[in-house]
Amino acid sequence: MDLAVRGKIALYFDDHHKLQIVKDPLIIIEDNSIVDIGSFDDKRNLIAGHDVVGDENQLLIPGLVNCHTHLAMTLFRGLADDLPLDKWLKEHIWPLEDKLQSADVYYGAKLGALESIASGVTTVNSMYWFPSDEARAFADSGLRGFIGAPVITGIATLSEAINVIEKHHDTVDGRIRACLSLHSPYTVTVQDFKDSAEYINNYNENTSKPKLLLHTHLAESKTEMQDSRELNKKHDQTYPDVSTPTEFLNEIGILNENLIAAHCIHLTEKDIQLFKDARARISLNPLSNAKLGNYMPPVLGIIDQIENVGLGTDGPASNNTLDLFDTIRFLALYYKGFYHDPTLVQAEQVFRLATIGGEKAVNWKGIGLLEPNTSADIVTINLKKPHLTPNESDDAILNHFAYSMKGSDVENVIIDGDLIFKNRSFVDQNVDEVMGKVEGIAQRLLSKD
Ligand SMILES: [Zn+2]
Repeated sequence: MDLAVRGKIALYFDDHHKLQIVKDPLIIIEDNSIVDIGSFDDKRNLIAGHDVVGDENQLLIPGLVNCHTHLAMTLFRGLADDLPLDKWLKEHIWPLEDKLQSADVYYGAKLGALESIASGVTTVNSMYWFPSDEARAFADSGLRGFIGAPVITGIATLSEAINVIEKHHDTVDGRIRACLSLHSPYTVTVQDFKDSAEYINNYNENTSKPKLLLHTHLAESKTEMQDSRELNKKHDQTYPDVSTPTEFLNEIGILNENLIAAHCIHLTEKDIQLFKDARARISLNPLSNAKLGNYMPPVLGIIDQIENVGLGTDGPASNNTLDLFDTIRFLALYYKGFYHDPTLVQAEQVFRLATIGGEKAVNWKGIGLLEPNTSADIVTINLKKPHLTPNESDDAILNHFAYSMKGSDVENVIIDGDLIFKNRSFVDQNVDEVMGKVEGIAQRLLSKD
């Protein structure tokens, strides 16, 4: 049966980034779309034939968008922490990844999907190995999102990635898309970037399906330019005369609206202008950046000037949770402390970044707002909690979103019109079984044989 969602208040940003507030709201869903939203008194005649989700204690928001992660890295959570990025990757993560089997990725990604949904995330942009297994985890869990079709020079080719795209892009009733995932400028050569751009441009000009995105890590570490130059030298490729990773992407024709770049820590003012002019997209992952000691991105300039910006958790081995509320709170607090200015990065801004900002960052129309003819991706949050009280004013609720709400306050989650998580339990998932599988896999990966 179709659903109707009831709450105390609904909050969302519309397509023009204007905050909308509906008191005592009722949302009517049919199939996988919202068909109406208004006050309960005005819309109650539409309830007939619908199952009602929620009650007068719920805050209704669009499902949150996690713009950059590696879902199956739940398998490595807590196994190697407090280490420099280089040592963490080369001595711990990459040797463990060498032992990965495809079924491992299915269970790791499934656990990540369930953790995401239970904390209010309904769309995830993931980049990882064994993409078909990741796709199966998305399909089985009910999550919406992107699986990565990986390209790394010498390890994963563009033609393999194209096979992944052909198999998975715009499948499972449109709930799963593929993203061409070029790991980074220090692992992918100029030629591989250019060939990928040519493929994407051609694909997007001729397709009736949703446009493809090119997903990459960018300007994450200080040594990225040097590492990128060395990689290309090793492969006898001409390197452009540039001084930042952003200039590099711009020079070789990658910086455009098909690009979503994760991290963007080492961006100059000129780089931010280049992103703005190109309408390229950014996922900010400040909690991961802090944990890996990678400096912090110029968030103030980025969110002031660039429209297509959302938030990501990064992988659960470098965060260490997929709860986007942790990232939201950290982002709202960090810059206030660093610059001695409590007016920086306001509650309304982080709410925008986590919802409509995410929609624009991943270019998936209709997932980040609560309006007729948009996707029925809705999260209800129980406000009847000590740490969310008082909540009679609209401003207080918005402030709670940034400063005191947690993923564990999420009460119900609807994705694509389906109630996946009801009264804090999964409707149709055995979480204990998935956790048991992941424990077994982690033990095998850590064993010496
Ligand atoms: Zn990442």
